[in-house]
Amino acid sequence: MPYTLEPSYDDNPRLKELVERLRRYLTDELIPYERDRGITAESRLDRATLEHVWKRSAELGFYGISLPPELGGQGLHFTELCALKEELTASGAALSHSVLGDMGGPLRVGAIVKYATEQQMRRYLMPVIRGERACCFSITEQDAGSDVRRMSTTATPDGDTYVLNGHKVFSSAAPFADFAIVVARMTGNEEAYSAFLVDLDSPGCRVLEGDVPMSGQQMEGDLVFEDCRIPAANLLGEIGQGLRIGIGRITLNRLLHCPSLIGAARRAWELSVAHSKSRVAFGQPLLALQAVQHKLADMATDLYAARSMVLATAARADRGQNIAVEANMCKLFTSEACFRIADQAVQIHGKTGLTRGHEVEQIFRTLRMFRIVTGTTEIHKNAIAKALV
Ligand SMILES: Cc1cc2nc3c(=O)[nH]c(=O)nc-3n(C[C@H](O)[C@H](O)[C@H](O)COP(=O)(O)OP(=O)(O)OC[C@H]3O[C@@H](n4cnc5c(N)ncnc54)[C@H](O)[C@@H]3O)c2cc1C
Repeated sequence: MPYTLEPSYDDNPRLKELVERLRRYLTDELIPYERDRGITAESRLDRATLEHVWKRSAELGFYGISLPPELGGQGLHFTELCALKEELTASGAALSHSVLGDMGGPLRVGAIVKYATEQQMRRYLMPVIRGERACCFSITEQDAGSDVRRMSTTATPDGDTYVLNGHKVFSSAAPFADFAIVVARMTGNEEAYSAFLVDLDSPGCRVLEGDVPMSGQQMEGDLVFEDCRIPAANLLGEIGQGLRIGIGRITLNRLLHCPSLIGAARRAWELSVAHSKSRVAFGQPLLALQAVQHKLADMATDLYAARSMVLATAARADRGQNIAVEANMCKLFTSEACFRIADQAVQIHGKTGLTRGHEVEQIFRTLRMFRIVTGTTEIHKNAIAKALV
């Protein structure tokens, strides 16, 4: 795929057709569906609304599209997945996170399929892939964020069960998930962390309303475990593999968050170009001012640089090469660059861009979060330096 300034898919007929079909779905169906129901990025989402999107996206072949055909997907390459993800957030659709299954769906479970037993596939992961169940991934605790090893949630073996105790925070999709993948510390072997599949209606498990992040999206929840007993068969992978499962998934996730940020920044760029053409100041459109042209040039350059490095890294992943360092570089650069773009977009929009609920203001708040979420800027720098120096 060429690393073009304007996304172009002419060299890949399959992707070109998919992108055209995705754009039609977004503009003809999803955005009108949201408009009719008054759904915005900050709406509290109910399960029926989400299930409608999961099912319709599955009918159209988008839900879980990157999974291999034997799991119901189309075995999309990571470069192709990046293109679809960018299109989704560039559309401005509030429910774009549910079309491919980013939020609680197949993209959340994709990387862990290789650890699942046949029974776990049947009972937990396949229903997620089909859009019948949803899951969340829970590692973070109030006192354990970047330093995940500080977690205090414990799993205590007891006969053919494990007993969980602890409190997880900021689990995305928890408010509408059916089960969680929970990483806990083993009692009696404090340095061993393991991952468990936990039904959220299990006795001793409560889902609490989470804090609302600055994006205003209401999709995070807390999980509280009080002597929550789960079958031994729900151990995912082996004892002590919990962080590998969690962090292995995070490496790919770090890369795959990038095109979503790029799409949102592209939307901010497009809105800024339109605004600078229509807004008149001192007898001329803003676009006539060199100061504004320079801002737009900086924004476009950041966009091109971010997209180029993300596609280059996705191509490495498609070739089966290790992307541990590159994924950190992509997330570091893309989150900082896209936030710079959003900041310039607010500047170009003046008071309109500062107005609560304006699309540019919403994008600014959302993009600000990604310098922290799925790894902070500082943690990415630590990882890059550790690997290279
Ligand atoms: C909207 C949202 C969704 C989320 N979704 C999930 C989810 O689904 N599942 C989940 O488990 N978690 C989730 N999280 C948690 C997220 O991954 C953490 O917030 C993130 O890992 C950072 O941890 P922290 O917020 O505790 O910050 P801290 O770790 O307390 O960091 C605070 C500051 O200290 C710096 N710092 C810490 N350690 C170092 C170091 N060694 N070197 C240099 N600087 C350092 C950080 O870079 C940061 O600037 C989510 C968070 C948000 C806001």
